[in-house]
Order: sequence, then structure tokens, then C-alpha cells
Amino acid sequence: MPSSNTSSSPGYEQAKQEIDELCSKLNRYQHEYYVLSRPTVSDREYDRLFDRLRRLEAEFPRLRRADSPTRRVGSDLTHELPEVAHTIPVLSLDKAYSAQDLDSWVTKTSRNADRSLSFVVEEKIDGASIVLYYEEGLLARAVTRGNGLVGNDVTPNVETIRTVPLRLARAETLAVRGEIFLPLSLFDRINSRQETPYANPRNLAAGTLRRVKSADVAAVPLDILVYEGYFPSPPATHVEVLERLEELGFKLNPDTAVFTQRQDAGHIRDRHPSWTVGAPAEIPAYLQLARRRRAERDYEIDGLVVKVNELEARQSLGFTGHHPRWAIAFKFEAPEAESVVENIEVQVGRTGRITPVARIKAVKLSGSTISNATLHNQDYVDLLELAVGDRVSVSKRGDVIPAVERVVEKNEQGNTTWKMPETCPSCGTRLTREGAHQFCPNPGCPDQIRGRLRFFAGRNQMDIDGLGPETLDLLVRHGLVRDVQDLYTFDPQALLELPGFKEKKVRLIREGLRKSKKRGYRNVLVSLGIPEVGQKVVELLVEGGYPDIDSLLAAAERREPEAFTRIHGIGDRIARILIEELDRPEMRSRIAALRAAGLRFSEEAAAKQRSLPQTFEGQTWCVTGSFESFKPRDLAMEEIKRRGGRVTSGITSRTTHLLAGSAAGSKLEKARELGVRVVGEAEFLEMLASP
Ligand code: NAD
Repeated sequence: MPSSNTSSSPGYEQAKQEIDELCSKLNRYQHEYYVLSRPTVSDREYDRLFDRLRRLEAEFPRLRRADSPTRRVGSDLTHELPEVAHTIPVLSLDKAYSAQDLDSWVTKTSRNADRSLSFVVEEKIDGASIVLYYEEGLLARAVTRGNGLVGNDVTPNVETIRTVPLRLARAETLAVRGEIFLPLSLFDRINSRQETPYANPRNLAAGTLRRVKSADVAAVPLDILVYEGYFPSPPATHVEVLERLEELGFKLNPDTAVFTQRQDAGHIRDRHPSWTVGAPAEIPAYLQLARRRRAERDYEIDGLVVKVNELEARQSLGFTGHHPRWAIAFKFEAPEAESVVENIEVQVGRTGRITPVARIKAVKLSGSTISNATLHNQDYVDLLELAVGDRVSVSKRGDVIPAVERVVEKNEQGNTTWKMPETCPSCGTRLTREGAHQFCPNPGCPDQIRGRLRFFAGRNQMDIDGLGPETLDLLVRHGLVRDVQDLYTFDPQALLELPGFKEKKVRLIREGLRKSKKRGYRNVLVSLGIPEVGQKVVELLVEGGYPDIDSLLAAAERREPEAFTRIHGIGDRIARILIEELDRPEMRSRIAALRAAGLRFSEEAAAKQRSLPQTFEGQTWCVTGSFESFKPRDLAMEEIKRRGGRVTSGITSRTTHLLAGSAAGSKLEKARELGVRVVGEAEFLEMLASP
């Protein structure tokens, strides 16, 4: 793994440079992990870099940057879903990696709280964090963690999860935190149906939760366990919070433990026979037990969370910008399995980057079968001294595909350390080296074209229905499409000549292509596949004075990196990539062709569309049921917002209109009860048409 110095103590200048590098790396990894649900480094590597940053910042406090990942919660916000502010603190957790670290934390926390404390220990389920807001017993909003202050409203998606109560046993108003996960036993089956498979159940759960179409979510059997409740008048302890949550109908983790010196141990034991109850001195033994039990779970856990039980003490301990001071995560090592490397192959990515991949004898790990493991690049192979036939240890958590951690036993065939071929396995062009990686420099390389097409049509870019990887490969193989821009000029009718294609599929593709032309400029820019230029960078460019492709192309043409580096968050490397890539003739002609096809190449086009008469201003709408003209129904919500209206997911006394489609359920009843104006689809269409 490309390693940064982890032990030595650097000088001031050196520390500054390392801190800058660590911040930008960790911010990028966070984006890949939280927003794209597709991490490119293992959690272990991420944690190592994070820890290094923390140590450097402790040693050089003046160098701690305002945007340091140690200061705030890693953000999973996406612009594709409505954003809402949290009304409770939604933070990350501090981490301990050894029983000793944890022991020091318990001692320090008890000292700071200035009283004897009891602790609750819960499993740290590795899923997607969610906050459920209930109003008078009804689920009003389900919101992702986001950046801790603002999250994405995913209520329609969460409503599809059977174990999330939509109505509580009592009409209470409260916020509940929980973890949404996919049972391990279902992961392989569900994942094989995904257009682009996910690396692990966590990524699949997090990716599913942020889908724009709720029907896609309903097809994935997600589950939830809740672990925190925020009541307007809270009880004295976390144990009582959990009890109240259970009474209200929530699913709690039966494997919870309480360590207390207080008299209530017997009472807790009687009331919760599945819980472990003991004294604080027994925590270390419990850590061992929980670690062993982990393999029996049908969900992935990456550690335990140790929390102060007394809520008053929590209040006095408080928070940092990143985590509460009253809880800590005790992280387990990533699970590993041993197997034999049967072969090493090289893959050519869409940007031409060459990645060696180990084909290993199939082995089970964390609920899925592993037969490939990434080797990153030649340096990593050299570091491992890896050869075909070696017995290796592979780890899985957090990686896009599992990684080889180390060689356990050398092969007996005498194979020596594997070496990268000198030419591209797809097109035969001589490879070049940039930094730690080898690249195929030929943009016409068939593997690169296939990769570009998959990326372009993918969910987070142009999201073209009907054009999954197999269909795209087929289009290339039959010469119907040579590159991205041909997608809008080829005749889908020609597919009818190929086996397995019927009218229905052709219609789906046509419709998918038509709809994709409505994608915003930001998605279009990401979909061009410029290396390192993902959602975050695009956002910086648009906000930083490049709201359209022409201004961007003109800046690239001037070949002055400062045109981009003046934007906070864009460094020299990305500036150079932008200049090189946007100035390439192939990129220019691709952009021209896509523009001619009608794709959006400016923010203004979208802004103009938005500047409709604000006829819904001051109104608060709720949308329920399904519609003929708005599929998915988010399209109706968009229309409301574009005319100045607000859209909320639940009906409250502030709701002014309910847009009710067919099969509208409990919301319709509630609207009638509250005297909210109910609007049907036909009337809504008239309202949209009238100025
Ligand atoms: P965290 O590890 O700090 O833990 C906080 C989360 O734990 C909460 O948001 C909650 O969702 C969850 N949780 C589960 N059970 C809980 C319980 N019983 N009580 C309280 N919380 C519970 O989470 P984070 O800040 O989202 O992520 C940090 C970790 O994510 C890193 O340590 C790293 O392992 C991983 N990560 C990896 C990458 C990568 O590129 N591989 C990038 C970013 C983060």
C-alpha cells in the first residue's frame, strides 16, 4: 500500500506538507466512501492515515486546518436528494484500537465526569447511519447523517423497510438514531442483481438508501437496529432510553451489555435476559467475547461502542465537532481469510490506469465469496514480494474489491515476484508510468472505451436506464457504438437484429437516453470521466466561477493552473489534469458531439428553467401515491420546488397542500383530518400550466 511515514516526528515544514497531503487524501476517500459508496482504500488504510493526521495535529496544533477531517463528520451529502437540517447532534465516534486505549478512556471519562459511571456496550453495526424523526407518533422524516448538521431526506426509501415503525405505540415526538444494514446471508444474492456490484453489504446498504427511486430500495431487504433516542423529557439513563424505544416498537440489538456498580444490575438482568450485565472491571473480558461472537452474526460489525449510561454525565462531558466525549468505538481488526493466488491479471481502467488483480482460490469472508483481490500497483506487489502460487491473507472490509494483506507462505514452484507486462493487455500499446501507477496512453484502447461507457451511463453520472455493462459491451462489440458520444446518435432499433433484444428493451433504452438529456450540467461534467474530477471538484468549479463548459474550456486553453488553483480546494495536480484533459482533441470533439446531442453544458440552462413564476411560494406540499405523469414522483416534487413551494415528507399542521396520486394511503386520511387541501393529478397539471 502506498505508505506515508507513520512513526517519525517531522520538522515544521515537513509536517505542514504531510498534513496538507493527508487532509486532501482523507477528504477524497471520505467522498468515495460516503457519497459514492465505493471506497478505493481499505478502512484499515483510512484509519491509519486518520490516526497519523491526528498525531501530527496534536504535535503541531497551529497547523490544524479549518477543513481537517478530524474537526468534523465525514459528509455523505448528495445534491440529488433534498437536504434537511438535523435538530439533534449527529456525530461520528472517537476510536480506540486496543483494550488499553479503551481502559484509559474509561478512566479519563470517569475523572472528567467527576462521578462513578456505568457503561453500556453495544455492537457497532457497519451499515448506514440514519436519524428517524417522529412527530406525534408518526414517522415524519428519515434523514441520513450528512455532514452532521444537514442530512439528505430519504423518507420514502426508509418507509420501505419493514422493521422501521411508521406509527409508534404512543403518539410521542422524538428523534431516533439507528443503523440500516443488509443481512450478510442475503448480500451475494442481492448484489448479483445490481448493475455495478458493490464491494460489501455496507456499501450496498448505503448506496441503496440514497437511491432516487424508492422502488429500487423496496427490492433490497434492508433492516434496522436503533441505538439512541432523543426524548423531549429524557429519562436518567441510556438503559431507560433503550427500554422506552423498545416499548414504542423499535427493534433493538439483543446483544447489549451494561457494566455498572449501581444497585440496578439485578433489575436490568431480569428485564433483559439476553443482555450481559457486569461490573466495569469486566469490560476487557467482554471485548474478547464479543470479538469471538462476531462471526456468528448475520450482519457485519466493525467494533463495539462503549457509552456512558448516565445522561446527566453525558451533558457535562459534551462534544467536539467530530464526536461526543461520552462514547468511544472500540474497533476490531478487519476480518481476514487465507487462500492461494492462482493467477495475477491486469485490468485496464477507463482512464487507462493498469491495476494488477490476484485471482485467488474462492474463499468465504464476511458473508461473501472472494475470488479476486486488488494488488493496487507494481509497488504494492513488490512490497508484498508476491508471486503466483503464494498463500496469502486477504481482507475485505471497505475495499472495492478485497485486498491482499500479506504473504503467509511462499509458493513451492519457485515463482518469483510478479512483474507487470510492458504493453497493454487490451491494445498492445507500450505502458507509461505516472507516480505509482502504470497507464495505457492509447485513448482508443478497447478496455478504456468500455470503461468510459460504463462510467458515463452509470447511476451517479448520466444514469441511463437500459444501458448496463453487458448491453454496452454488446453495442461496442457489434460496432454500433465506438465511444461515449455515439450513444446519442446510434439507432437503438438496430438492436432488434441482435439475439435477446425485444421492442420493450429498445423502448427502455430510447427513453433512458431521452431522460438522460435532462441531467444537470454537474452530472454531465462528471460523466466526461476526467480523472479526479468527481462531484466534489465539479461543485467547486461551478461555485468557483465556471458555470458552463465554455468558460472551463477557455481557462484550460490558457494553460494557466492558477485559473483553477485560485479556487479553495483545487490543488496543482487537479488543475494540471483539467488543463491536459480539456485540451485534448478527443475530449473537445466528444464535448462538441454531446452538446449537439442536446446535453446540458451550462448551469444557466438549468437556472433559466428554474426561473418559472413562483406560483407556489409560501405553500408547503406533501406528495403521496403514484402518478401517470410523474414517475418517479420526485418529478412532481421538483415541479413544486421550481415554483417556489416547499416539499416535506410528512403531513403536519404546517402543510398547506397534499398532492394525492392513486393508492394514496394514510397521508390522505391525515390530510383530511387536518383540513389540508387535497389536490389530484389532473388539478395539479392545471396548476402547473397556469401562469
Ligand atoms: P464511525 O466509525 O466514527 O462510527 C460512527 C457511526 O457508527 C455512527 O454514525 C453510527 O452510524 C455507527 N454506529 C453503529 N452502531 C452504533 C451504536 N451502537 N452506537 C453508536 N453508533 C453506532 O463512523 P464514521 O465516522 O462514519 O466512519 C469512520 C470510519 O469509516 C473510519 O474509521 C473508516 O473505518 C471508515 N471510512 C473508510 C473510508 C475508506 O475510504 N475506506 C473512508 C471514510 C471512512
